[in-house]
Amino acid sequence: MFKIIKKDGLTAARTGVLTTKNGTIETPVFMPVGTIGTVKSLSPFEIYDEGFKIMLSNTYHLFLRPGTDVIEKFGSLKNFTEYKGSILTDSGGFQIFSLAKFAKIKDKGVEFMSHIDGETHFFTPERVIEIQRILDSDIMMQLDVFSGPDVKREKAEKDLDITLRWAERSIEAKNRTASAMPEKQKDNLLFLITQGNFFEDLREESAHIMSGMDASGYAIGGLAVGESKKTMFRMLEISISNLPENKPRYLMGVGTPADIVNAVSLGVDMFDCVLPTRNARNGFVFTSRGTVNIKNSLYKSETLPIDPECSCFCCKNFSAAYVRHAFMSREIFSQRLLTIHNLHFYQNLILRVRQSIESGSFHDFSKNYSSLF
Ligand SMILES: [Zn+2]
Repeated sequence: MFKIIKKDGLTAARTGVLTTKNGTIETPVFMPVGTIGTVKSLSPFEIYDEGFKIMLSNTYHLFLRPGTDVIEKFGSLKNFTEYKGSILTDSGGFQIFSLAKFAKIKDKGVEFMSHIDGETHFFTPERVIEIQRILDSDIMMQLDVFSGPDVKREKAEKDLDITLRWAERSIEAKNRTASAMPEKQKDNLLFLITQGNFFEDLREESAHIMSGMDASGYAIGGLAVGESKKTMFRMLEISISNLPENKPRYLMGVGTPADIVNAVSLGVDMFDCVLPTRNARNGFVFTSRGTVNIKNSLYKSETLPIDPECSCFCCKNFSAAYVRHAFMSREIFSQRLLTIHNLHFYQNLILRVRQSIESGSFHDFSKNYSSLF
């Protein structure tokens, strides 16, 4: 399922190949965020053609809208979206505890109120696996408890305890549902989510205990929620050092280009983040010169592309002045162009990361790169 191809000599970076029921994915990999099955402003075909062989969607959101009954009619989320690659669905633990109007943890699961229509729902770890079976996700994620920033140790301990119990119940639910599923759905992989808030020993405990469970891979959750970079990377380092070497590691919701390069050097294989797509819609553009703002008057009559070194559809065809004009006039097309560009930038970054690990030059690449962002 996961094979390490090359390990870097100077850092913990590695390249690998992850095999899902719908294809093979070279790692490190960046997954664009298609929360409800669309990456904002692009088609699933464009995402795949840009080289993204896996995208991220969200169980909580898809459950609320359009609902599993709709997706069940299509046989899978993949059929529903017409996306040709693999799909990883986050469980929605993060969304329940950060987005829902309230979330009440009980012994069995969590009761929450939809942020859309105020309706009350109840998720158990088992139910979340069943929903992801209906979505037929290539990679399912366990239901976890996101404690949030600035919580006391007592709460972090309690939340971790629940997350660990839910991890076990998720594995049991996966095994139990496998026997009742059609053959094609038996190989939905399951990743567990390590937590532990910002307490070193809890992070260690979480990764250590979960590494003894039968999961296909491990995510590091609850980071990049307002803590310092130093704290984030410390927690990441502790989590990874307690996870098995031979399983993929997925850092959830991170991050800037420099964060990605730094996390790869600690041994992370998979990433997702809204940054390239959300920033594009707000006019912030990642370029080979660093991050620029398309609203800057510098670009008002710039005949060159936004990034002359970029080979994306936007930069190949349009001047910075034209893109800026469209953006300032609030034309939807400008958001598409900037999203295409930013995702191309992230894809190109991850390609260069992989190439530099394979050629033994990742250490130099990461040193030069971090100063840009
Ligand atoms: Zn471009």
